[in-house]
Amino acid sequence: MRQSTFIVIAISLLLSMSCNSGKHVKSDERVSYAIVIHGGAGTIKKEHMTPEKEKAYRAKLNEALDRGEAILKGGGLAIDAVVETIKILENSPLFNAGKGAVFTADGTNELDASIMNGEDTNGGAVAGVKTVKNPITAARAVYEKSNHVLLTGNGAEAFAQKEGCEIVDNTYFNTESRLRALERVQAKESQGSVILNHPDSKFGTVGCVALDRNGNIVAGTSTGGMTNKKFNRVGDSPILGAGTYADNTTCGVSSTGHGEFFIRYAVAYDIAARMAYKGSTLEEAVDDVIHGTLKERGGSGGVVALDRKGNISMEFNTEGMYRGYRKPNEQFVGLYKNE
Ligand code: ASP
Repeated sequence: MRQSTFIVIAISLLLSMSCNSGKHVKSDERVSYAIVIHGGAGTIKKEHMTPEKEKAYRAKLNEALDRGEAILKGGGLAIDAVVETIKILENSPLFNAGKGAVFTADGTNELDASIMNGEDTNGGAVAGVKTVKNPITAARAVYEKSNHVLLTGNGAEAFAQKEGCEIVDNTYFNTESRLRALERVQAKESQGSVILNHPDSKFGTVGCVALDRNGNIVAGTSTGGMTNKKFNRVGDSPILGAGTYADNTTCGVSSTGHGEFFIRYAVAYDIAARMAYKGSTLEEAVDDVIHGTLKERGGSGGVVALDRKGNISMEFNTEGMYRGYRKPNEQFVGLYKNE
């Protein structure tokens, strides 16, 4: 074989590995941009999926990544990429965020979202909102236009409306499939079952972390919370340090899973702190937290994260996690453990 032919084959092999395996190529140089998303972790198994459903998930994840990547490639800001990418996922009934959010025990939808900017380590969040079409836009407004970090309930809605976020009736979020899920969970509950072992315990929250050309990292997360939640329960998604974290000196993280555990173990912050204090790489920090701390203590879920060089991590201790990433010459979308 001629040497030039050999080199061409070797390069294409390397490229195809980086595009298909989901294990990105580690880089010491900062890439010009990177974006990673999740659409929730949980009992996601190939045998529970129809080919049409799988196709729909992959297409929507790719559509969201296309949007975010186009913004970053064009020199846009990480915060715009995160908000626009999450809006696509919020508007899709496939995910537990925005349209298609899970139901509370009372048959309503209460939404939580947060965003954090690694440049100034400041952020914004809303919890328990019922009428904001895209809660991630309300979180951004809290970050950019208030002196606060977290607003809740009616006050958060009034603020979002004042700042021009689109308002809808609560019924906008309703979908048949989430209503059926509520009925199944409530039927199990009336028989005294542990709700989190039920097949409906797919979490389905959405999240995105982006690194832009300026080296800024932004992370965002949006959710309907957990099916059958009661008493205005709020999970980790609107809690900076648990569901979302970003610091340009370490990494950005968006979580999905059983929120109570993510709050108790400050999961997103713990990952960044291990990098800052212990000198862990992103991969080591995420592994230790998701497969160590969290799993050992009974918490299920996962995170997507990226560091300041654009290294990507997408780890989960559940059966699967809807996920994907893009960076120059690399792309991946996956649902199950290995694909
Ligand atoms: N973490 C979210 C919560 O506990 C749920 C999810 O990730 O889907 O509210």
